[in-house]
Amino acid sequence: MKRYLMSEPLPEGVKYLVQINPVEKAPKLTDAAKAELLSVGMMDAKGKLKLKGVSPKMLKRMKQEMVNCPVLNQEIAFVQCYVCRNFQSRISGQVYCKGEPL
Ligand code: SF4
Repeated sequence: MKRYLMSEPLPEGVKYLVQINPVEKAPKLTDAAKAELLSVGMMDAKGKLKLKGVSPKMLKRMKQEMVNCPVLNQEIAFVQCYVCRNFQSRISGQVYCKGEPL
């Protein structure tokens, strides 16, 4: 897949390319992220993640990844980013982010 370089124009509707970083320990999800996951049916009442179309192996990997969100201006769990309304796609270890204010 194509990996965009900083010098190239971004695809339509994408404001930021955000690097996904693996971390040793799975980051904790914020209460707001948990509420969002629950509301969209991606987490059950026991707090277990159920992401549609994501294999258990991929989910395990996703849980141990973080992104430095340019909109929230902080490091957050990739799972939180994945359910963000600005998330467009994940390609070659980068998030294609719409960059709208949250
Ligand atoms: S998709 Fe959302 S959480 Fe992810 S980098 Fe963009 S604004 Fe931040």
